[in-house]
Amino acid sequence: MGLVMNIQRFSLHDGPGVRTTAFLMGCNLRCRWCHNPESWLMKRRMMFYPNKCIGCGRCLSLCARGAHVFSESGHGMDPSRCIGCGGLDACVQACPAEAMTVCGKEYTPEELVRQLAKDRIFYEEDGGVTFSGGEVLGQDTFLRECLRLCKAQGLHTCVDTAACVDSEKLLRVAEYTDLFLVDLKAMDPALHEKLCGVENSRTIENIRLLGEMGKPMWIRIPLVRGENATESELRAMAQFLRGVPTVERVDVFPVLNHAQDKYRALGMQGELFNEEGDNQELIETSIRILEKESDGVLNLNRLM
Ligand code: SF4
Ligand code: SF4
Repeated sequence: MGLVMNIQRFSLHDGPGVRTTAFLMGCNLRCRWCHNPESWLMKRRMMFYPNKCIGCGRCLSLCARGAHVFSESGHGMDPSRCIGCGGLDACVQACPAEAMTVCGKEYTPEELVRQLAKDRIFYEEDGGVTFSGGEVLGQDTFLRECLRLCKAQGLHTCVDTAACVDSEKLLRVAEYTDLFLVDLKAMDPALHEKLCGVENSRTIENIRLLGEMGKPMWIRIPLVRGENATESELRAMAQFLRGVPTVERVDVFPVLNHAQDKYRALGMQGELFNEEGDNQELIETSIRILEKESDGVLNLNRLM
């Protein structure tokens, strides 16, 4: 069984062509700008959107865990108290306003691939299936089986990963992966740890390894002004990536702040990045540095 956060159909940014993306739960990184904080833990997560609540009080009377609280400042919820009522999600089911959702659903590999394969008529020649997260390689046994089933049906497969895992996990899924989408967030280990909670030696090692194995890769660089979007960091990235023969393209994009509602729904506080300054200019400056340092070897793309 695998724990799946979401299935997104008609995705245009998760690899070549039109794709269906399965987002898996669980992640060993804590990137401070993460757009999917509900995926961090390997367990179902309750999310509460107070702006949808109409104050009917049903959840309060249902919850034996005291997760819902009404006070003068309105309806509050402590998601950490929720145990999901043994999978019944009592308050979620009873809420007339859909103010709560539960993230995370169990699938067998067969069930998940059946869902993904439903969209095959839209994939045309270059589209297919992408597995993302969270960190997909946290569920490597489940992932390998899903990929194997996809390949048995002739589907193109992408694995979207930060690759900050032991190489054995990567090797287990590589056989059935057509293309790896790998995030490169920083070259300096201390900076990587500051931004993502863990240092980056395994990511660097795994990108090298995939290059030696002849596995095609698209690298994705999220830009954070004043952090990794500096001349020294970008030059180090370009020097490294130009030496990896299977890097087909490098996507560069600014970190945005689209997930603030999700942080609040999880009872967390999100950070804000790239609020000051022109993000288009941030991309163009970064591309110029990467281009110059790689002598034009890298196929650089702007994602905005
Ligand atoms: S799912 Fe159950 S335990 Fe969780 S908040 Fe709702 S009523 Fe309480
Ligand atoms: S059941 Fe839904 S609408 Fe009613 S108080 Fe709870 S969250 Fe609000």
